[in-house]
Amino acid sequence: MNFELLKELSQAWGVSGREKNVREIILREIRPLADEIKVDNIGNIIALKRGTDGENSKKIMLAAHMDEIGVQVKKILPDGRIKLCRVGWIWTAAMYHDRLFFKNGVVGVVSCEGNIEEAKNDVGKLFVDIGCTTREEAEQYVKVGDFAGFAGEYYELANDRISAKRLDDRAGCFMLIEALRLNQGDLPNDVYYVFTVQEEVGCRGSVTAAAQVKPDIGISVDVTPDHFYPCDLEGCNAVGDGISVTLGDPSAMMDEYLVDEMLACCEENKITYQRGVMDRGGTDASSMNLSNEGVRVAGIALVDRYPHSQCSVISKKDVEAGVELIDKYTRRTFIF
Ligand SMILES: [Zn+2]
Repeated sequence: MNFELLKELSQAWGVSGREKNVREIILREIRPLADEIKVDNIGNIIALKRGTDGENSKKIMLAAHMDEIGVQVKKILPDGRIKLCRVGWIWTAAMYHDRLFFKNGVVGVVSCEGNIEEAKNDVGKLFVDIGCTTREEAEQYVKVGDFAGFAGEYYELANDRISAKRLDDRAGCFMLIEALRLNQGDLPNDVYYVFTVQEEVGCRGSVTAAAQVKPDIGISVDVTPDHFYPCDLEGCNAVGDGISVTLGDPSAMMDEYLVDEMLACCEENKITYQRGVMDRGGTDASSMNLSNEGVRVAGIALVDRYPHSQCSVISKKDVEAGVELIDKYTRRTFIF
């Protein structure tokens, strides 16, 4: 599998609502692979791989989000410092003394008005230093309303691990692209590979995408937190233990039949998997679930250590297992 593409995706700038750079990489990759491709009014990519249209043929919508968390400028102070608001959920401490990239390429360093320990999780205590000492000077580079994303280079760690920014959810986008590459030949179902916008600010892109696709089955392809080392969460998921079949997602109840089929698919194909329960957060499964007249949903998740940081950690083997699961699962016949 070509992990150089995951590296490229992880490094692309794409804060929620500003996903163009990510979209262009994905369109370049999927153009030769899909039967139909559409970019909708708010920027979702909807790519169809058509099935054979048999009696039990279903419309399956796979959703991975292109956007990443970031910040937006809300004020520029007389001494040139820039004040921020969050775009998506961010740990204040994770931003401290790290770099930000504005869309125009301007770089800034995040610091804190006082002890970071006392800032708790208040992003209002932070500011960005872009190297300017007056408001007038700063405004030549950055304006109120501008968005910025984080640095977070791509590194290979020991034991097939990768660390980079925004593997949430560029790793999901990568898995969809690689699955579409495999998904050739006669297929029983119409499979929609959907790359959504604005997931990190409330699963918004998947609302309009699901309204267009009108799926029978919706599957979110996203990340789920790791619990192997002590952290702020408790659970049993671990990077390297296989692709996670979502059983618990606070934002949507996974359909019993679809989950059973997914577990059976892993067993039959000897795909290394783990049972995933996430007790905080949510995915695009939520908006697919409540779209149209209600849609059965399930989730395929990559276990991600230090999610929503600039250096989250995943396993290449888990990614490969995820691609195989997407490919094999979408080839199944679903009867309901
Ligand atoms: Zn995500």
